[in-house]
Amino acid sequence: MACLELDGRILIIDVGLSFPSADMPGIDLVLPDFDYIRSNADRVEAIVLTHGHEDHIGALPYLLREIRDVPVYGTAFTLELLKGKLEEHKVEDRCELHLAVPGEGATAGPFVMRFLRVTHSIPDGMAVVIDTPYGAILHTGDFKIDQTPMDGKGTDLHGLAEEASGAGVHLLMSDSTNAEEAGYSLSERSVGPVIREIVENAPGIVVAACFSSHIHRIQQIVNAARANERVVAFLGRSMHNSVAAARRLGILDLDDRDVVLIEEVDRLDPGRVVVICTGSQGEPYSALSLMAARQHKWVKLGEGDTVVLSSSLIPGNEPAIHRVVDALYRSGAEVFHMPADAVHASGHAGQEELRLMLSLVRPRWFIPVHGERRHLQHHARLATEVGIPADHVLICEDGDVVTVGERVVKGERVQAGMTFVDGLGIGDVGGEVLRDRRKLAGDGVVVVVVTVDAHTGEVVAGPDIVNRGFVYDETSGDILEEARNRVMMSLEDSAEAHVVDQSALQQNVRRVLGRYFYEVTQRKPVILPVIMEV
Ligand SMILES: [Zn+2]
Ligand SMILES: [Zn+2]
Repeated sequence: MACLELDGRILIIDVGLSFPSADMPGIDLVLPDFDYIRSNADRVEAIVLTHGHEDHIGALPYLLREIRDVPVYGTAFTLELLKGKLEEHKVEDRCELHLAVPGEGATAGPFVMRFLRVTHSIPDGMAVVIDTPYGAILHTGDFKIDQTPMDGKGTDLHGLAEEASGAGVHLLMSDSTNAEEAGYSLSERSVGPVIREIVENAPGIVVAACFSSHIHRIQQIVNAARANERVVAFLGRSMHNSVAAARRLGILDLDDRDVVLIEEVDRLDPGRVVVICTGSQGEPYSALSLMAARQHKWVKLGEGDTVVLSSSLIPGNEPAIHRVVDALYRSGAEVFHMPADAVHASGHAGQEELRLMLSLVRPRWFIPVHGERRHLQHHARLATEVGIPADHVLICEDGDVVTVGERVVKGERVQAGMTFVDGLGIGDVGGEVLRDRRKLAGDGVVVVVVTVDAHTGEVVAGPDIVNRGFVYDETSGDILEEARNRVMMSLEDSAEAHVVDQSALQQNVRRVLGRYFYEVTQRKPVILPVIMEV
């Protein structure tokens, strides 16, 4: 998510979300911190979306809880995917959707925009160009330069070069995801023949997992099925939504007679079926994970069956993906997956394409965007290699404010970072809650319940000690018994010293037990003293 400001107005480019990492127990989604937008809501002129991936549009329904009546620009497929999300969150009346047509432009307040088509792992991606008094700002969105795209609509190299002439591009912001990958990305078309051959040689059912928004990949799987006289069955909610959106727009060539319902699959000859599903990232309750665990209602895998994981291994997801792949092998099925099999082509530009983008656009200033710090760093190096002076390359992190004048300079910072969504996303899970969850997950919890006399502080009942996830009661009875004694002694000391204040008593219990537990177990459970007064 990026904010551009001109004449006091704000243009937001993309509003993406990310998924939790293993150190975020219980978190469902990670949103950008909207603090800055919240406090400048009246200045937001428009939102422009470069493409329909979750990390570019997924947080928009949440942002629309905070601002309303804002125009949103996006290409046909981006808006088609977005509509479903907005309806699901019941915020469809809080924005107006404007169709962005690559090769054309639009004006929103002081922002004069032009849209340029780019190829990516989803149809209808675009770069956005915004005029400023110093020259244009060009944001590539996510892109690769596929010379033979499935839909024949390549990255608009001519349009990019045109931007470089005249007033020129003052500042380029370009996708850094694959800045560490040498050479060129493979064309999407290279995947088709590989999948086709796999289907051709498969004796039983074929299950192909890929991203639901990757319509061109789905098309190639459908083509492979057709070529081998198989029908396809779609599986997974996002897969159904995305395929329906693509069919409404006529960008997925699929006939009704090519498709069967998943419920019908077990009545058919397995050798006549290809199942297309989600779950290629090892998501725990996805169809693919359930098949791997042999718990799927409709698809039971075994000897003779084939599974294709037609996607990349997104960094961070590897352990989960490998678990699923291992389990799939154990079921007896044949498995094709990256990097062992060429069943995927990346949607992001490799180093040569990034150099080409820089050379075509010839920006005076450059900010690598989209990627971890190391990707930005590698991309910055590529920029200096093609002749952009090192002091005209800025590496920025979330929250950095950059002032664009004759010179482009990094200034102060604004609040930015992550907001966690757990369940309904009522915004109550912050860093502190997460810290507690990590502690609970690591060393468990011990609850101490004791009743004391309100006046004297003497123990009337208890203490009772209950633990979850700290020690096993049956074998660690001694530890818990000694813990009881220590709490008793601590409370007796307090009573003698006439300490009756609740929080002081709790603190004492916590300190005494914390020290004792660490001494005998080297663990630090969360300790919750409950002191009742009578
Ligand atoms: Zn992205
Ligand atoms: Zn993307």
